[in-house]
Amino acid sequence: MLERAGDPLVSKDVPVPEPGPLDALVRVEACGVCRTDLHILDGELDEPVLPLVPGHQVVGRVEALGAEATGLAVGQAVGIPWLGSTCGHCGYCGSGRENLCDDARFTGYHRDGGYAEYTTADSRYCIPLPEGTRGVEAAPLLCAGLIGHRALRMAGKGERLGLYGFGASAHIVAQLARAEGRDVYAFTRRGDDEGQAFARELGACWAGSSEERPPEPLDAAIIFAPAGALVPAALEAVGKGGTVVCAGIHMSDIPSFPYSILWGERSVRSVANLTREDGHEFFTAAAAASVRTEVEVFSLEQAPLALEALRAGRIRGAAVLAVDESAR
Ligand SMILES: [Zn+2]
Ligand SMILES: [Zn+2]
Repeated sequence: MLERAGDPLVSKDVPVPEPGPLDALVRVEACGVCRTDLHILDGELDEPVLPLVPGHQVVGRVEALGAEATGLAVGQAVGIPWLGSTCGHCGYCGSGRENLCDDARFTGYHRDGGYAEYTTADSRYCIPLPEGTRGVEAAPLLCAGLIGHRALRMAGKGERLGLYGFGASAHIVAQLARAEGRDVYAFTRRGDDEGQAFARELGACWAGSSEERPPEPLDAAIIFAPAGALVPAALEAVGKGGTVVCAGIHMSDIPSFPYSILWGERSVRSVANLTREDGHEFFTAAAAASVRTEVEVFSLEQAPLALEALRAGRIRGAAVLAVDESAR
């Protein structure tokens, strides 16, 4: 539980939460650890409802349903993503862009998330998962995979795709991109030989440091690392008409850069959150591409350790909490 931004997480015994009328009570099997969790802990995202149970990549089973909950059955396997709820009637919600709703509530930020044995979620925003889903392997799909998929779509259809920061999201996106026949160029921190080798194992045709130029201009690049300096670096790596997509929710300031590297109809854009439609699309695409996640598994008590390992760039693939030890 986070009691105050900047403080370490504390372990607490609290009552099992009561589901609201539209909610599902979910017994958590596993919860992915995301870079966004660190931004919340560090106070870089400054609207957490405290005290807060973090975690927005939740896989579990429906234990009980509120009186008005829809679309789910008790005992069913579900995923709980970052998008916790939206207003349902604003211009964004009405035009297929609920990810931009001003009144969206996010899991593990505005409402308690999955670093807990039980959590509640609005039934309308849960994603039903196929029977036999393994919690620890599926958890990273709920944000790393979903946001990665949205970012890949925003990157356009170009063949040569650069991925800056080869962590949880990129290792899934690389598989989706390879399945679509694209060439993947992976950029890591300088000297991260393991990360570069990992990218090549997942089909990257080139892997190097983010300061390097790829052997040929890219059609698009997705930036997953929260470093603003990567924006001009990526702009220099894409060719004319290329797109640079910033996939993170927070980034350090972007240094100023000469207009010449944006000229030639290059563009920079961000990707914000996800829609429920993204969820359905992504899980279909992931199944078709036989996406496999590489996970480092921690116990619930080890959440602070997992977060620090993620901060230090020591995770290969995605970090996941096996909340229910039998989900390992
Ligand atoms: Zn709305
Ligand atoms: Zn996330």
